[in-house]
Amino acid sequence: MDVADILARAEARSEALTEDELAVLLALPPRSAQEAALFAAAYRVKCRIIGKRVSIRGLIEAGNVCAKDCFYCGIRRSNKNVGRYSLDANEIEALAAEAKRFGYASIVIQSGEIESEEHTAFIEDVLRRIAPLDLGVTLSLGEQSQETYRRWREAGATRYLLRIETSNPELYAKLHPASHSWRRRVDALKALGRCGYQVGTGVMCALPGQTARDLARDIIFYRDIGAHMIGMGPWIPHHDAPLREPQDSRMPPSDKLHLALRMIAATRLFLHDANIAASTALQALADDGREQGIMAGANVIMPNMTDVKYRAAYQLYDGKPCLGENAALCRGCLERRLDAIGEKILYGQRGDSLRFRAAHAQADAAGA
Ligand code: SAM
Ligand code: SF4
Repeated sequence: MDVADILARAEARSEALTEDELAVLLALPPRSAQEAALFAAAYRVKCRIIGKRVSIRGLIEAGNVCAKDCFYCGIRRSNKNVGRYSLDANEIEALAAEAKRFGYASIVIQSGEIESEEHTAFIEDVLRRIAPLDLGVTLSLGEQSQETYRRWREAGATRYLLRIETSNPELYAKLHPASHSWRRRVDALKALGRCGYQVGTGVMCALPGQTARDLARDIIFYRDIGAHMIGMGPWIPHHDAPLREPQDSRMPPSDKLHLALRMIAATRLFLHDANIAASTALQALADDGREQGIMAGANVIMPNMTDVKYRAAYQLYDGKPCLGENAALCRGCLERRLDAIGEKILYGQRGDSLRFRAAHAQADAAGA
């Protein structure tokens, strides 16, 4: 297959590529001229559809208590070496207010997964308290019942991020204990759509046993599940988590980074109008990893707002960056970094997903 031809068709029209063609792009050699052409095509689409602009969400890591035991994650339930914390409503409200002062018009509230009436009511209370700040609020609090998603939506959350982690159920089963269900995660994504959220999903790249074909199918999955926002990043091992890299096929950090960048670029070329995040995990592999993510087609960055005293306890993988930098430092640093690549931060704008708006305009027209 001719890569230049694939790129030209993908650039001209959203959702134009087949699974085979996506797999060809994802398997391009790292640091090759063809890979550079892939990144350039994806960046042109990002600039044409979204502009040289980056949306910001202040990330609040609200707690590391988790009922789940994902084999890759540093805050999994079985890790007894991590001190557990949960922010109270006042702390979350103060961070949301700080985000507002910084000109960030959107926040993400993320934590381990807790399913209980007490937790549902707590989040509802937090959402009602921060409603007067008029921020776009993304939740990333794991799998919940449709009723819980509905209550949080009514209390003011507008977006929800739930990564499928991999669209391959067999690979999913190798990354999680038997009690964790891929099917339940898919059903949760559908429930989020029914509740009217802007739905975000995504996967980890460079997982043991994952192929370019798996990643191509992940991108098709994003379309089929109706995702409006995509958050992806490289899997990075954690010293206290059981998932390990196979000794015989260790991927150098630079190759991992490039695979994650190809995944961002291929996703942008397939879903022209989606919001795509340049995740913090990219920065764990290279100091300018997030900027490289933007230059490969991403348009969202989530600077950390969490107080430095809690950051080390929310370590999902080894080498998490900026453990000692407070939110104000992160803001200045990000502005300089984006300036250097000619991108502007969209202060004061929520940066809702264009894909969500387009989907709803279509639904409204069909109902009219
Ligand atoms: N608990 C919620 C959930 O799992 O959906 C939200 C928080 S969870 C920490 C957010 C994401 O962190 C997960 O979806 C997973 O993709 C990512 N993550 C966990 N461990 C990781 C690792 N070792 N390397 C890279 N990403 C990781
Ligand atoms: Fe819990 Fe999320 Fe980590 Fe899984 S990835 S153990 S659900 S915090």
